[in-house]
Amino acid sequence: MLEKLFSLGYSKTFAERYYQLWGERAVKIAEAMEKPLPRCFRVNTLRIEIPKLTKLLNKKGFQFKRVPWAREGFCLTREPFSITSTPEYLSGLLYIQESSSMYPPVALEPQPGEIVADMAAAPGGKTSYLAQLMKNKGVIYAFDVGEERLKEMRLNLSRLGVTNTIVFHKSSLYLSELGIEFDKILLDAPCTGSGTIHKNPERKTNRTLDDVKFCQNLQMKLIKVALENLKKGGILVYSTCSLEPEENEFIIQWVLDNFKVELLPLRYGEPALVKPFGIKLSEEIAKARRFYPDKHSTSGFFVAKIKKLE
Ligand code: SAM
Repeated sequence: MLEKLFSLGYSKTFAERYYQLWGERAVKIAEAMEKPLPRCFRVNTLRIEIPKLTKLLNKKGFQFKRVPWAREGFCLTREPFSITSTPEYLSGLLYIQESSSMYPPVALEPQPGEIVADMAAAPGGKTSYLAQLMKNKGVIYAFDVGEERLKEMRLNLSRLGVTNTIVFHKSSLYLSELGIEFDKILLDAPCTGSGTIHKNPERKTNRTLDDVKFCQNLQMKLIKVALENLKKGGILVYSTCSLEPEENEFIIQWVLDNFKVELLPLRYGEPALVKPFGIKLSEEIAKARRFYPDKHSTSGFFVAKIKKLE
């Protein structure tokens, strides 16, 4: 069992951790992560209605099925040539997006006219979905520190026709400098990315427990800033593409222990882990959700929806 994980290239530390977390299923998860993910896209309803675009693509021979948790999301089942070379892609009628990444904006449910922060935004996949759900009305304050990723983000936002977003090349640890109480905040946190091995196989070997600790530390700082800048009754969605409980369930447990908040239920995905590594967490944590490559054909992904009570 552990040998199988070693043969797939996992270090002893991570193979043992994954076996502790999922038992035999750890191999299924790891094997699923060796296969490429289906290519998925989001219809950009800022530019076109869903049936109009699906018809245009069908005519060219593309076939796809719906993403269950995202009205605008589809995954290709037939791609006669690269969808990125179509005029539909080039003119911003669609955005290529992994299906689990579509869930955080849907879970946040931003409304037209609201004031929203996206605390780790580049290259803008989720920001542009937020803008779409807000019908370009209201304001999104989008932060990131990655210069190259921000360049890509500006191109994406312009191609997609997003006009309600202000992009800051700045750490969102300084969010309070804006002096705004946000209606909603998305924190798609920087993480070890251990759920994205299919795209980044080197992560099997080059990530250590120190990296997990480093990310956890930053995530705690960022989520604290998020809660401090949210209005009372406001909603925070926290997500990562990490498999590690330290970056997911343990962060949410820390929030439940230190802030006046309520965890809100989410419909899709599997319940988050309530006893990772045998450590008993609050039963509430099961309301947060995990997506798994072996079950959902997605990256390993985590989403939690938090309401600020006071
Ligand atoms: N939400 C993006 C999307 O859907 O396209 C992906 C975001 S990625 C998971 C995490 C991002 O966090 C990276 O772009 C990284 O540059 C950014 N980041 C890291 N530290 C940050 C900080 N202190 N403030 C803002 N962004 C940060």
